[in-house]
Amino acid sequence: MITLTSYVLGRWHEGRGTAATLHNPTTEAEVARASSAGIDFQAVLAYARDTGGPNLRKLSFAERGKLLALMSAAIHEKRDELIQVGLENGGNTRGDAKFDIDGATGTLMAYAQLSEKLGARSFLVDGDGVQLGRTARFWGQHVYVPRTGVAVHVNAFNFPAWGMMEKMACAILAGMPVVEKPGTPTALSAWRIAQILVEKGCLPEGAYQFVCGSLGDALDHMGPQDVLAFTGSSATGAKLRGHANLVRHNVRVNIEADSLNAAVLAPDVDASSDAYGLFLSNVALDMTQKTGQKCTAVRRIFVPKERVKDVTTDLVAQISRTKVGDPSDKDVRMGPLSSREQFDDVRAGIERLAKGGEIACGGSKPIAAKGYFLAPTLIVARDGRDATYHREEVFGPCAVILPYAGDAATAAELVNLGGGGLVCSVYSNDQSWTEQFVLGVAPWHGRVWIGSDKMAEQALPPGMVLPFMVHGGPGRAGGGEELGAERGLHFYMQRTALQGFKGSIEASFGNATAVTAG
Ligand code: NAP
Repeated sequence: MITLTSYVLGRWHEGRGTAATLHNPTTEAEVARASSAGIDFQAVLAYARDTGGPNLRKLSFAERGKLLALMSAAIHEKRDELIQVGLENGGNTRGDAKFDIDGATGTLMAYAQLSEKLGARSFLVDGDGVQLGRTARFWGQHVYVPRTGVAVHVNAFNFPAWGMMEKMACAILAGMPVVEKPGTPTALSAWRIAQILVEKGCLPEGAYQFVCGSLGDALDHMGPQDVLAFTGSSATGAKLRGHANLVRHNVRVNIEADSLNAAVLAPDVDASSDAYGLFLSNVALDMTQKTGQKCTAVRRIFVPKERVKDVTTDLVAQISRTKVGDPSDKDVRMGPLSSREQFDDVRAGIERLAKGGEIACGGSKPIAAKGYFLAPTLIVARDGRDATYHREEVFGPCAVILPYAGDAATAAELVNLGGGGLVCSVYSNDQSWTEQFVLGVAPWHGRVWIGSDKMAEQALPPGMVLPFMVHGGPGRAGGGEELGAERGLHFYMQRTALQGFKGSIEASFGNATAVTAG
């Protein structure tokens, strides 16, 4: 049994008292314990602000980018070991574990490359300057400067590597020190990464702290220059956003929450087209990759009502090619749910969803005597407007086919019943239908993925979060935004409007020698 520790105040801390237990979801054996009891969180935050912040802010973007490259290389060097940990603690197949780890190292490298473009400065110039007075002598210019507080990052269990590194890449490059808290059920992977980063000395003193277990009273000690970035369920997100101390100090909060992501098959796509093949393979991948425990996975599949029968048959055939079982078996493509709690939640969720439709494959019954195994489950709803399907997130290998009739505007209106999503994918070769649909769903989504015959060969799947595109979504998805190249840095920086003599402003803060913030 491994005892997970926290890295705070420049040393490893072992929690005392009651600890959370982590399991191997394949065997249900206990693998580790985690507790943060005894940590002085006020001191942790002060240490980050007083030591880590100044250590980072004295570096330029290019120098901070080198730290990210170091982190990426250090994690990549231990890739095989981390894949094994993901298998034991997360129930990941080798492919799923690689997806998490390579996502982490790839995002770090993408931001390391971006830092070269940002160069020797330590602040960003935002747009062009503007004449404010009667003549150009009185001039205005917006800039972004790093905040002088600490970034507290609360991460979900499903991507222990990628989730933590995508937040860290932006915060460290912007110049803010971090306190990272992983989701406890899969904290063994995150802890091993923390050990690697500390052993390699990737970051300057105070820039990186890592808390395994609860965050204690940390939020009570956050202040106006601090930021909180959270990834997890809407319910926890709402609780944190409403935290009295965060509200009192207007602490900047970013919420990445859950989402009933949609895939929409347009009426024009016929069964022999490349777009249809892409639709089938993407939906099946989303349902089974990471055992459906992906915030961007498709939960609602919209199909023209006269095509539902055929599409259901084709999707069931596609899904049934996925071998489910012990993730250490190299032929297995889908492992167990990550924890007992997840297993119980998903089973109960499938039962709720099944009430309004028919189960086409899978179901809530366990498929093994031991371990948290379920089959991929496809449900066909009787009524595409049934509110349950636009409200309930079942965070596992489960999706619902919803029949629709009508034009692109009607399809968009149905999709938007989800209340705000991370990603909506649409499959169509009809330019005007697509245009109308995209304009209809875009206000309700952080990302719209447009599939057609033309891009079928080259497309990365819609469930994939890319460092140069924004990730997040309005409404139920949390209302937050992460990544998107330079945009990801803005959360960690203060935008300030400078007004004064044009010559002075341009000499120190102008565009001529700096890169414009995007
Ligand atoms: P969760 O139960 O909301 O937990 C998320 C994180 O919040 C964990 O680190 C958890 O710690 C922590 N937490 C819970 N209560 C807290 C409190 N009162 N104060 C401070 N921290 C608290 O979500 P999850 O089960 O880990 O993740 C699954 C959910 O995340 C799904 O709904 C999924 O859609 C969503 N998700 C969204 C995104 C996105 O980018 N939008 C990405 C991934 C996942 P413990 O683990 O120690 O309880």
